[in-house]
Amino acid sequence: NKQIHLDNRPTGEAELSNFKLVVGETPALADDQVLVRHHYLSLDPYMRGRMNDSKSYAASQPLGQTFQGGTVGEVVESRHPKFAVGDKVVGFGGWQEYGVVDANQPGVLRKVDTTHVPLSHYLGAVGMPGVTAWYGLVKIIAPKAGETLVVTAASGAVGSAFGALAKARGCRVVGIAGGPDKCKYVTDELGFDACIDYRQHPDVKSMSAALKEACPDGIDGYFENVGGYILDAVLLRLNAFARIALCGMIAGYDGQPLPIQNPTLLLINRVKLEGFIVSEHMEVWPEALKELGTLVATGKLRPRESIAEGIEKAPEAFLGLLKGKNFGKQLVKLV
Ligand code: NDP
Repeated sequence: NKQIHLDNRPTGEAELSNFKLVVGETPALADDQVLVRHHYLSLDPYMRGRMNDSKSYAASQPLGQTFQGGTVGEVVESRHPKFAVGDKVVGFGGWQEYGVVDANQPGVLRKVDTTHVPLSHYLGAVGMPGVTAWYGLVKIIAPKAGETLVVTAASGAVGSAFGALAKARGCRVVGIAGGPDKCKYVTDELGFDACIDYRQHPDVKSMSAALKEACPDGIDGYFENVGGYILDAVLLRLNAFARIALCGMIAGYDGQPLPIQNPTLLLINRVKLEGFIVSEHMEVWPEALKELGTLVATGKLRPRESIAEGIEKAPEAFLGLLKGKNFGKQLVKLV
């Protein structure tokens, strides 16, 4: 059972040498346990925070243990009455080929139906990132039809789901993404009304001009995934009583400072700004997953995936995700 462990903690940017490939044993099953063969590992930006030992909303990843994270796979052995060999499941098995799960604990393992939704999408659009988009949109931004919404990292797992959910509510949706290919995908495949390539607009002034053009009626809702100067540029274009769902600030996860120049605009425009962590709102997951599953099954949300092959590739693919090398949900396929 090949596993990736966190070997040591980063001092600045995360590096390959922080991780270590280990070949571990798979213990025999006890009562109520199941053995899952992982098909895909989920790589997610929040994992960067867990590599540090500083205080955060999530406990830090222990050194010398399998790196924790979401997984999808197939039950290959079962001593639990509710799980049978062949069941497709979503869990939190970590970066390893096989996981032993105490299936009695609530929520640790969920059976999924792959008839209309491919298994891998349960780690993306019809999983945690999709619910994240749903929560920020529905519970924080709470848009009315006709309002203009902006989202950063628009081509990614969360951003793409946000676009589909917002279009379904009759909003004008503008994405911000890195590079012409990502922007083309955001408008042509995901159906956003416009997409701004931030690499063409690398400062507040230029980004704010691009936002003015893409959002002629101003911005009513902003879903923040990145942080930094883009947030400043958005603040300059907000309408009165705008709502900001503060979901992520990936531009700062490797320790980069993210100063804001225009905070008084939050006051002047009576803006509501709310940070949130999706795992603290389990009550919305069933409703959100139902809507997201329908959007994918009916082709209204066509999520992209970046797939690295083999567990050995997980650290490299993860570091790439923090630099925007992924295009869509970053996964590792275990072969
Ligand atoms: P994505 O699939 O969007 O991948 C990350 C993307 O971030 C990259 O593709 C890149 O897109 C962009 N990015 C990376 N570095 C930078 C940078 N320096 N400046 C601008 N963009 C950058 O990841 P997810 O959809 O999984 O996550 C998106 C955000 O949502 C993250 O901030 C994550 O932490 C947050 N999140 C928060 C949750 C919560 O509960 N609050 C839960 C899940 C996710 P591009 O090339 O377009 O820049």
